[in-house]
Amino acid sequence: MKLSATYNFGSGPSQLPSTVLERFSTSFLNWKNSGMSVGELPHRGVFFQDILEETKSLVRELLGLNDEQEVLFMQGGARGQNAIVPLNMLKKNNKCDFVVTGLWSKFSAKEAEKYGDVSIVNKLTTESYERIPEIDSWVIRNDTSYLHLCTNETVHGVEFQRVPDLREVNRGHVPLVLDCSSNLFSRALDLSNVALAYAGTQKNLGVAGVTLVIINKKLVESCIVDPSEICPSVFSYKNVLSENSCQNTPPTIPIFITKLVLEWIKENGGVEALTEINAEKSKALYDYIDKSNFYYSNVHISCRSRVNIPFFLKDSSLNDNFVEGAMKRGLLNLKGHPVLGGIRASVYNGMPMKGVLNLLDWMSTFEKEYCYET
Ligand code: PMP
Repeated sequence: MKLSATYNFGSGPSQLPSTVLERFSTSFLNWKNSGMSVGELPHRGVFFQDILEETKSLVRELLGLNDEQEVLFMQGGARGQNAIVPLNMLKKNNKCDFVVTGLWSKFSAKEAEKYGDVSIVNKLTTESYERIPEIDSWVIRNDTSYLHLCTNETVHGVEFQRVPDLREVNRGHVPLVLDCSSNLFSRALDLSNVALAYAGTQKNLGVAGVTLVIINKKLVESCIVDPSEICPSVFSYKNVLSENSCQNTPPTIPIFITKLVLEWIKENGGVEALTEINAEKSKALYDYIDKSNFYYSNVHISCRSRVNIPFFLKDSSLNDNFVEGAMKRGLLNLKGHPVLGGIRASVYNGMPMKGVLNLLDWMSTFEKEYCYET
């Protein structure tokens, strides 16, 4: 049982479903009467291999992956992938293209500059990142090695409402790479035309320490030239694939927790059900913010995130009071990212509607207390 009725609105690590915490605490110490805790299981032994296979098959089932798609578990976090992707996927011309819609895709492009010839396909976007430019305005090079984008910008609260289809702009041959760290499993995403998608698990899928990578074997065979000689062996997708994510010792406990979260997702109606629940949770918050004269959101309605909701108090000198008062009510980690300031409510899969309602109640109480005519 959770210690107290707290709700964690942090952007990750984030709130885990209480069922997952309970199951973790009852099963961890003596896994299936093996005499070993989950953290002590040899990674090539049958007990952990079963956990790994079950986790993989739950990912496949819940995301509806096809036979061309493989599931990998890697280390280095999503930021590691910013280097791992170019090290594996750059062709001889070294070109790689990026859609930059917020802080995280900006970091991805910056890291790739160490290895490749980077081009931002939406150069005219302003740094306030309040909306996603239309796909037909992107200038994607015909011979680029891949196009990278972030499906949900965790800091700026900007989310693609569907995975872009590059065939619509005559670039269907360009491998598409997605950073889905903050929205994979929070809503249905069509990954069928995607070369590679990655997500750290500490938001919608468990705790920090493992990065889930969905890789299309066919696209990868054609686009992965042998990984660059300087690519560490454990970060070569080919190696990770052929060694079933066990070339080096995988992060066994985070993988186990991801398995528990996936089981919980399955029991609760799968990704379809979460898509609806997360839409309802975020709608309740946006509706309230939009009606208020006290709070506001910057993000254009066409691309508002369902899981990260940055918002502002018109009088920013009240920010600290808001966050502190929230904390006293058990509403934790609402302070906005330093780049944006303000407030940010992250309402990932583990956040129940009850937590959102409690936050709304606090927002209304706070507004009544401080709202004054100007
Ligand atoms: N991409 C996105 C969209 C993120 O939200 C984050 C973490 N907040 C990262 C990348 C970096 O993830 P990590 O810290 O696991 O490297």
